Amino acid sequence: MKRVLVTGGSRGIGRATALQLAGLGMQVFVNYKCNQQAANEVVTNIIESGGNAIAIQCDIAHENEVVKMFATIREKYGELHYLVNNAGILFHKCTAEQLTAERINAVMATNVTGLLICCREFIKNRQNLAATQDAVIVNISSISARFGMPGENVDYAASKGAVDTITKGLSTELAELGIRVNSVRPGVIYTDIHSDAGEPERVDRIASNIPMKRGGKPEEIAEVVTWLLSDASSYMTGSIIEVGGGR
Ligand code: NAP
Repeated sequence: MKRVLVTGGSRGIGRATALQLAGLGMQVFVNYKCNQQAANEVVTNIIESGGNAIAIQCDIAHENEVVKMFATIREKYGELHYLVNNAGILFHKCTAEQLTAERINAVMATNVTGLLICCREFIKNRQNLAATQDAVIVNISSISARFGMPGENVDYAASKGAVDTITKGLSTELAELGIRVNSVRPGVIYTDIHSDAGEPERVDRIASNIPMKRGGKPEEIAEVVTWLLSDASSYMTGSIIEVGGGR
């Protein structure tokens, strides 16, 4: 059975991804930071559908917790085959003048440092997997990496630019090890990230500016992530796929 860790798998895009991957017969590790109940609900949903899933708490912004999470999975269940770096945070919108170092560092600690440390822990024990076995990382970026979210969340957009740079760098570095690394850049998607950032109606506000005139569903991102983990995309690495309704 293939094993996959989905960071931030307890809700939104991560939840949809966890459910799809479990449906394909993978053992899914559903990471969360705070909301144990939401993670347990995803796990229960998967188990009741005949799948295999385990909730695992870890704040990826803390290196020691990430090291412990990967070590726990490895020791109890075996080496991971796939990593979906999905966990990410978005603060309330603000102008450049209102930005603080504390806020910028908090965004970067989860969206960039945490993601890269997860990559490091994932590749650390690659020699334990047979050379013939595929290993894939999918990083969840954002189309905001392209336009920068001026007057709203430049810090967040910058973090997603960094995610895509990490994808490019690691894909080249790890290609010879047989590890593929790709990014998915969602457009604006109906999840709770927007209400947490103080604007629950954000998707509907932006929808008229999207060529397809609607926000995306988490499942529409999960489909692309699932495809990138599969052999159907076996010649793809270092790619950045936009899923934004044409925006
Ligand atoms: P969401 O609904 O806010 O869910 C975020 C998930 O990440 C939750 O499971 C949360 O767990 C977890 N998480 C947050 N910080 C964490 C940390 N430090 N350590 C571990 N887990 C953490 O988010 P979403 O909208 O599904 O977004 C998922 C990814 O897609 C993010 O990287 C986001 O930037 C990206 N994205 C989203 C959109 C969009 O419109 N929704 C667009 C472009 C890109 P707890 O609830 O337990 O804290």
